[in-house]
Amino acid sequence: MEDVAFQERVEQALGNEQLQAALRKAAGRFDVARERAWAQLDDVHALRAHAKGIKAHTLAHLDRYLAQLAAQVRANGGMVHFAADAAEARQIVRGIVRGVGGQLVVKSKSMTTEEIGLNHALEEAGISVVETDLGEWIIQLAGEKPSHIVAPAIHKSREEVADLFSRITGENLYDADIPTLTAVARHELRRRFLEADVGISGVNFAVAETGTLVTVTNEGNGRFVTSVPRVHIAVMGMEKVVPTLDDLMVLLELLPRSATGQILTSYTQMVTGPRRPGELDGPEALHLVIVDNGRSRLLGTEYEESLQCLRCGACLNTCPVYRVIGGHAYSGVYSGPIGAVQIPLLQGKPDDVNLPQASTLCGACRDVCPVQIDIPRMLLALRRQHASSARPQTVWERRLFRLYAMVTRRPWLYRLALWLGHWVLRPLMRNGRIPHAPGPLQGWTQYRDLPPVARQPFHRTPTAKRIEEK
Ligand code: SF4
Repeated sequence: MEDVAFQERVEQALGNEQLQAALRKAAGRFDVARERAWAQLDDVHALRAHAKGIKAHTLAHLDRYLAQLAAQVRANGGMVHFAADAAEARQIVRGIVRGVGGQLVVKSKSMTTEEIGLNHALEEAGISVVETDLGEWIIQLAGEKPSHIVAPAIHKSREEVADLFSRITGENLYDADIPTLTAVARHELRRRFLEADVGISGVNFAVAETGTLVTVTNEGNGRFVTSVPRVHIAVMGMEKVVPTLDDLMVLLELLPRSATGQILTSYTQMVTGPRRPGELDGPEALHLVIVDNGRSRLLGTEYEESLQCLRCGACLNTCPVYRVIGGHAYSGVYSGPIGAVQIPLLQGKPDDVNLPQASTLCGACRDVCPVQIDIPRMLLALRRQHASSARPQTVWERRLFRLYAMVTRRPWLYRLALWLGHWVLRPLMRNGRIPHAPGPLQGWTQYRDLPPVARQPFHRTPTAKRIEEK
């Protein structure tokens, strides 16, 4: 689907009723759960400000904390690799797997490995890869990409999952309920942990002062992946480092609450080095791969703030655009408002310039972001950047903008235009809305009704007057 232009992907998503229903249900549920979980905190605003401070401080001293993290991981017996880009990261991981004669890799959920296209690279090298997070396994079987940071298979119905599982088991599972389907997944995946040579995980946080790698999950697969195979490779984006365990605790207060509405996820796993002499469990070797892939380019720019992202998915769940087009309409693994900022910056394909345009700039993403990332500000900056480098405007565009400037500079003309707008559009109104706009405006009403121009503009209401007087 990614080869198709953005506009076309959006059209396909809007025309997919099953997707619409799945998104409405799932995103809405996450949103409500987050609100409830935040409400249980004494002062969520202070906590969010504190968390933002931690992330901003870390990014301002990223070189120092990454060096400290690398030194600590090595002191704990692990090995550290820095990858400048996706190709180097793939090469490093492939080299480690080949070096230990690995034939089968089990993975727990990791957006960074999705970002660098790791599965494909390993499979090309003849190495089998099995995703073991339920959602990731479902989309691996379907040959798709994640459509949500937290819930990768959010777009899939029970029937579609049953169909996928029927194909691999050879049984007819079409009428199977969800517990039966999860039991199938458990049965199919459990033996893979025991057979695998290498486990690959992501990293939610990496603590610089102790060299501890933290993953936050709701499935036990993460523990199997990091402890059963003889080699564990953890892959992280360089922005995931946090200075201290105290800082980690602050961020852990917010991440599960914002992602799934939980006070703590079922498994918050902390790995500090490989198995030590005398210990019964754990891998013989631990490798940490720290991936840059365009992130350091953002440091010190107006987009640095985007690296504060905790990957909680709250901005996706609340975004009126994501909630109707879903994650596959975006052209990278990160979707929703934060994806619309990060994909053009990290990936930079020509089609990506459309993503920042696909926003209402309503600000809901900033309001729900646990670290208060000002996504609308960055979307506007990207739009500005694109506009200044885009093709010159057509004659009609220039005329239209000149007319708009002329009208908005003259209050009397502006008022007249609003008055005229109200009366011209009035015949098109049905039940207080405009369901079908005429001529070149019809695109606006293809998927929603247009609100009419108000008879009394807001600036002439008593409320506006009161605001003006203050
Ligand atoms: S930008 Fe904020 S709300 Fe969106 S995924 Fe990142 S941390 Fe969560």
